Amino acid sequence: MSKGIRRPHEVVDYDQLTQSYPPPPEYFDSTYLESRDEIERKQLSRLKDRALRAYQVPFFKRRWDAAGFDPNSITSLNDLSRVPFYTVDDIRKSIEANPPLGDYQGVLPKDAAKEPMRVFMSGGTTGTSRPTLYTAWDREAGAILTARALYQQGIRPGDTVLNAWAYSTHNGAFSMDEALYKWLNCVVLTTGTGTVTSSQRQIELAVQYGAKAILTTGDYLLRLAEKAREMGIDPKKDLQLTALPNIGDRASLEETFGGENYASYGFHEVQWIATECPARQGLHIQEDAFIVQVVDTDTGEPLPDGELGCLVVTELYKTGSPQFRYNIMDLSYLYPPEQCACGSWLRRMAPFSGRGDNMVKLRGVNVWPEALGEIVITHEQTTEDYFVRAIREGHRDEMIVAVTTTADAGDFATIATELETLLKEKIGVKIRVEVGVLGSLDELTEIKTSPKTKRFRDERS
Ligand SMILES: [Zn+2]
Repeated sequence: MSKGIRRPHEVVDYDQLTQSYPPPPEYFDSTYLESRDEIERKQLSRLKDRALRAYQVPFFKRRWDAAGFDPNSITSLNDLSRVPFYTVDDIRKSIEANPPLGDYQGVLPKDAAKEPMRVFMSGGTTGTSRPTLYTAWDREAGAILTARALYQQGIRPGDTVLNAWAYSTHNGAFSMDEALYKWLNCVVLTTGTGTVTSSQRQIELAVQYGAKAILTTGDYLLRLAEKAREMGIDPKKDLQLTALPNIGDRASLEETFGGENYASYGFHEVQWIATECPARQGLHIQEDAFIVQVVDTDTGEPLPDGELGCLVVTELYKTGSPQFRYNIMDLSYLYPPEQCACGSWLRRMAPFSGRGDNMVKLRGVNVWPEALGEIVITHEQTTEDYFVRAIREGHRDEMIVAVTTTADAGDFATIATELETLLKEKIGVKIRVEVGVLGSLDELTEIKTSPKTKRFRDERS
């Protein structure tokens, strides 16, 4: 330590880190094959530590005190269900009351000289992004978890990998970068998205450098394949991708590029949680770093294995901002705790199968229909009425917002353009707007026929 500054390499004990969270390939010969007893013993000890740390954070202390939960009272993994969960709404309220960081952070920027940290934001659509402060330990441990997942999906040390994620306020591109460079010894070729490096250039680079994977959405990877064909390049023979760690349409990806596509699951605040193994019987949860539960969408009560409900995630690996029983509102279910054909006893979850609310992921941005509604009704020529549809066009998800107005039909096009500009500004992605006369949405919203007005319909197959 010099002059009161502690650098990242001084705050992270790398021996302890790699013993606690073995990186790949060691992970697959050790932690991945542990017995249920070993897994759960480790989880309980980490859970107790994590509960005590979380209790020092105002957001958790307030909620736990109100619910009468004492973090010292955890004696078994079952006790976790006594802890009240929270949703994105609770986080939003915390930010509104304590801008800009909320009161759920485990570290604060004022301590950064002694505790190196960085801040990333989730894609918020209601004006407030949700920030998460990560310590150096959180970044490193998180990078190991990501490296394990990328390895399981076919990336190997020494591979050259194109990172085509957006380097932006969220951690997507950075977590890939950290995992590839620090823990997989891959040669990272940073391209950013198609707006930073053109699709044509991405293809040229992938061919020239013999890239083994292109990290981006499955949708964009398929667009790149179309581009390649236009350039006279065969996506399967000339590109030679050996890993497809892209979330998207599995059949199209495998057909287009050859090789195997494995499902995975994670989200901004905790990073990579689970990845499918070659047996393709569910996604193995990285249980040394997470406890995943499933609760009823309406009542919040824990559900038995096999029943579809909302995922509630507790991370066990961080030292910074905790996520302790976060109801992420993604729908899935748990497999019974059995040994998989691959040899692992790690619990498996089903792939993401929809939302407990109406969130749609549009080109990497989380969009809630209600948030779109709040924006479009602010236009002086629209009414309070709106209806949002999610559709699939080609390889892309799109959203269309329909609004009503008392203005003349001659003004509809202008209103639509103004709203599309406003939405692009506020949300960051293009969203189409349709304008109609009063009452034109009544059949969709059921405003006159049902006690609960409908505002959204998912028309993707
Ligand atoms: Zn398996």
